[in-house]
Amino acid sequence: MSELLDILRREIGVQGPISLARYMELCLSHPQYGYYRKRDPLGQEGDFITAPEISQIFGELIGLWIVVVWQQMGRPEKTQLIELGPGRGTLMNDALRAAKIEPSFSEAIQLHLVDSSETLRKIQSKRLADYAPVWHDNLCSLPEGPMIVIANEFFDALPIRQFERGEMGWHERLVGLRDDGRLHLVLSSPTAVSTLIPEPYRNEAIGVTVEICPAAMDILSRFAAAIGCYGGAALIIDYGYDGSATGDTIQAVKRHSYCSLLETPGDTDLTAHVNFGQLIDAGTSLSTNVYGPVTQGAFLQSLGVYERAKIMMKHADECDRGKIEVALKRLVDYREMGQLFKVLAVGRKDALPPPGFQER
Ligand code: SAH
Repeated sequence: MSELLDILRREIGVQGPISLARYMELCLSHPQYGYYRKRDPLGQEGDFITAPEISQIFGELIGLWIVVVWQQMGRPEKTQLIELGPGRGTLMNDALRAAKIEPSFSEAIQLHLVDSSETLRKIQSKRLADYAPVWHDNLCSLPEGPMIVIANEFFDALPIRQFERGEMGWHERLVGLRDDGRLHLVLSSPTAVSTLIPEPYRNEAIGVTVEICPAAMDILSRFAAAIGCYGGAALIIDYGYDGSATGDTIQAVKRHSYCSLLETPGDTDLTAHVNFGQLIDAGTSLSTNVYGPVTQGAFLQSLGVYERAKIMMKHADECDRGKIEVALKRLVDYREMGQLFKVLAVGRKDALPPPGFQER
């Protein structure tokens, strides 16, 4: 998308190299030319596929998780059910269908969807029309009150900053402009950024890359404050690592294959692995606990994924039985999504651990 490349060239020309976070933000969310604005990137025909698109069981189990959490909260008469980045609305549609098992829950919830994509909002509004959702561009307009928050593959789309340890200290990796007009990666001077490096990483060896996601930490600490105040829980599912890992995890994907980070800005999906260690820090407060991360495989098993699949298979023909088996393996097997994908929850200290998690 050459318009976005021109915008980037102008911005870098005026102010010098920009952070990777700014680059990701423009590529993904530019109001006119951002990747998510005008397309549906999901599914076989798109660029990537997500768990709820693989099997209805995923959303159904999360629906049951939501109902149990609501019961643990003391069944508040008015509860905000919030989904961050609902994609095609598939997860929420499957979840709310399964949640009908508890009729008073359906009456208690008000559905809020946070999504910046016009195209996906249209799909969500068709799929979730029965639940009268309210859309938000960001967290600022969400109402106060008891809440249950769900985010599947949302945090990996948030902009990250990258730092590299050099001989003289830490440098930030920035996007600069070459004389021939092409974008390239450059390193900042070492002095400015060392205070941004989180404590556990400060003494890493030369050559090590560390990533931080300020937006993720901001979002989670806001929800932790609200859950601490009004009650509720948040469930975050994403691919990522467990705390102390380092390395460059940013990736550009188009049509299910990796491609260059800087070649076609706005035209490829950009993501980074989620640093769950930073999310634990952001979600822990005087009144909230963070649970996990546990692997997606373990989480789905503890919610009864095999039992649900068995019931579905009983009612399926041979061809569909095969499909259910393949989908189940993709979600749970440690060589597929079962281990790389992790699940983390935030809950009130005075509440029971949410289903799928142990007491801290
Ligand atoms: N949860 C869905 C979709 C994941 S794709 C699923 O599992 O299938 C990421 C979703 O987050 C998309 O709906 C996208 O439009 C939304 N999104 C990405 N960045 C966003 C941002 N900064 N603000 C709001 N929504 C965003």
